[in-house]
Amino acid sequence: MIPDVRLPDTGEDDDASRRVLNVRLGLRKKNDELAATNRERFRAAGVRVANVVSAPGSGKTALLERTIFERSGRRVGVLVGDLATENDANRIRGAGGRAVQIVTGTVCHLDAAMVARAADDIGVDDLDWLFVENVGNLVCPAGYDLGEDLRIVLFSATEGEDKPLKYPTIFQSAQWAVLSKIDLAAATGFDRNAARENLRRISPRARIFELSAKSGEGMTEWLEALEGFFDVQRQ
Ligand code: MG
Ligand code: ZN
Repeated sequence: MIPDVRLPDTGEDDDASRRVLNVRLGLRKKNDELAATNRERFRAAGVRVANVVSAPGSGKTALLERTIFERSGRRVGVLVGDLATENDANRIRGAGGRAVQIVTGTVCHLDAAMVARAADDIGVDDLDWLFVENVGNLVCPAGYDLGEDLRIVLFSATEGEDKPLKYPTIFQSAQWAVLSKIDLAAATGFDRNAARENLRRISPRARIFELSAKSGEGMTEWLEALEGFFDVQRQ
């Protein structure tokens, strides 16, 4: 899940850049170890975890709100990452979910240590479903394993159909891809087929959903897929 780190091509031996690279590799190794610990802990608690990633404003929180509302019989937890505010955690609570807001300050991604602390706060033992809503960012969240079992990437009909081509790493790191806000496709001139084609090209094995948390289109298939993913371990 962690993409290869490439040496900057400076065309010369550069001690400073090699030192920076060694620090980065060290941090990644540490993150991977913590992610493995998280994964063991979630498994012991009998809950599976989905890490939801996207650019800002693709509709992660709205999709989770509707998901929680539609499946009110499940005990759903969300660890929500944002640079600032408790807004999204409050929205999740308003929909009936349990939420812990992770305020990252200047950090534009979640790492495994942040997730471990938030998991302490939320209490994972009595949850049926657990989501991590990552900080809105299509770049570095790709490189941070959080201990999740499933990664879901969203991109919305208000963005370009070529998002997967521009940010291939994160799309390749996700097993599921969601075209969101599909109710707006006609208004924005969003070409659903082109978007699917681009997804297929970058990530041929990803499961693709097209949905709107607002109109409800595509929600049945989405909810059934979530049941298939999350409920299997708890039965
Ligand atoms: Mg959000
Ligand atoms: Zn970042």
